[in-house]
Amino acid sequence: MTKTVSHWIGGKPVEGASGRFGPVTDPATGAVTTQVPFADGGEVDAAVAAARAAYGSWSTSSLAQRTSILFRFRALLDAHREDIAALITAEHGKVHADALGEVARGLEIVDLACGIPTQLKGELSTQVSQRVDVAAIRQPLGVVAGITPFNFPAMVPMWMFPLAIACGNTFVLKPSEKDPSASVRLAELLTRAGLPDGVLNVLHGDRTAVEALLEHPDVAAVSFVGSTPIARHVHRTASAHGKRVQALGGAKNHMLVLPDADLDAAADAAVSAAYGSAGERCMAVSAVVAVGAVGDDLVQRIRERAEKIIIGPGTDPASEMGPLITAEHRDRVAGYVKGAAEQGAEVVLDGTGHTVEGYEQGHWIGISLLDRVPVTADAYRDEIFGPVLSVLRVDSYEEGLALINASPYGNGTAIFTRDGGAARRFQLEVQAGMVGVNVPIPVPVGYHSFGGWKDSLFGDHHIYGNDGVHFYTRGKAITTRWPDPADAPAGVDLGFPG
Ligand code: NAD
Repeated sequence: MTKTVSHWIGGKPVEGASGRFGPVTDPATGAVTTQVPFADGGEVDAAVAAARAAYGSWSTSSLAQRTSILFRFRALLDAHREDIAALITAEHGKVHADALGEVARGLEIVDLACGIPTQLKGELSTQVSQRVDVAAIRQPLGVVAGITPFNFPAMVPMWMFPLAIACGNTFVLKPSEKDPSASVRLAELLTRAGLPDGVLNVLHGDRTAVEALLEHPDVAAVSFVGSTPIARHVHRTASAHGKRVQALGGAKNHMLVLPDADLDAAADAAVSAAYGSAGERCMAVSAVVAVGAVGDDLVQRIRERAEKIIIGPGTDPASEMGPLITAEHRDRVAGYVKGAAEQGAEVVLDGTGHTVEGYEQGHWIGISLLDRVPVTADAYRDEIFGPVLSVLRVDSYEEGLALINASPYGNGTAIFTRDGGAARRFQLEVQAGMVGVNVPIPVPVGYHSFGGWKDSLFGDHHIYGNDGVHFYTRGKAITTRWPDPADAPAGVDLGFPG
């Protein structure tokens, strides 16, 4: 028996009415556990209308009212970490500890939203001219839509809606149809925390719902996180419909290892960052660039560590890596490993064909490690989004930097070295939005902002942190003159005020 997940509109569950549904699978067993409704245009209208109806009173609610709700939400989220993580594991497949980490990183943004009064304080300059003051304030935009990917079903929605609603907007979230349940749980908790009906709505669906949101006249802004082709399309379409857009796309994250690096630390970092969450992270390291003579030694150390990774269902505390999201995705990842061998790479570890006893129908794939990968190989050029690490060999720092900067993606990157001068050069010269120095996955904390360059982000704003507050508000400058009661009338002056 499968259950059916509901939309969450106007503060309550609403059953899908379009008659179209998609399957949600437990990736560890391959069994369809849940049906997710796919909203049609009428349901999109209803969700946007609920958000619009709530906007008037929410946008004028006091900051104290908003933050008291967010603080209660934070406490509920904290109390429900375990069950939200269990929902994530059941639909995404990642191991429970990783799912708990995802909830913790989402909670960081709720922390930030709880402090929104500080972020919205505005600016004031007094006496810019005789008796004239200038104030700068930031105001909400209206109804904001968020469209999120499968790989962080709780964290990425929380990159968006806590800050958006803290700023006074109302929100329609269209989560991934592959793992939709966590977002509904978050909306339930926010409602329990006292959020007025309609401020956060969750609408399930596929591209039909996305297109309707991108074109909807009552949607003021769109936050998107997902793959590059869809991010590009979302940015173009929503911009053409007059909306503010931030669209975060895919990635190919490189880790440059200089000859002086601590090779054990580099190998630990490469293995953790490449195979954690089965490589289904937009900040996963998928290419290690070994400089000089370190290649053989580094590959050997990576191999020793990677071979020990325990693959199994995310519900088993012994598992370190779970299955992939779908069987089709697993087959696509396997295709890259096979193709790499044909395109000139050395296959050091081949994870294709891996199964887990007792879970034979799960979407399993083992660890793959490719060495001496040519830059022309598909395994290097494309975002694989699976547990496949490519090693490339270069002779110098300059050659490694040029290789990284030639990538169309520019999300995260890292350098491993003991040389502070080289690290400093790298952080200034590399074309990527997030840089790690001896840190393989440099995801900024909540009070900084997250975002890539080039094909990893379309739009001008990174997400969360100060950029998030700026994205979800627009500025207004107010110039005020209050004449002193003793002043004589200024008189008419047609000159340009200097
Ligand atoms: P995806 O692009 O397939 O889907 C993302 C969202 O877009 C989903 O809600 C989906 O329903 C919708 N969508 C899919 N196809 C669409 C279409 N043709 N038209 C309109 N909407 C469509 O991404 P995914 O597979 O769910 O997630 C993995 C991707 O997300 C990877 O490329 C990963 O790098 C990227 N990602 C990026 C970041 C980042 O911060 N840059 C973070 C997480 C994931």
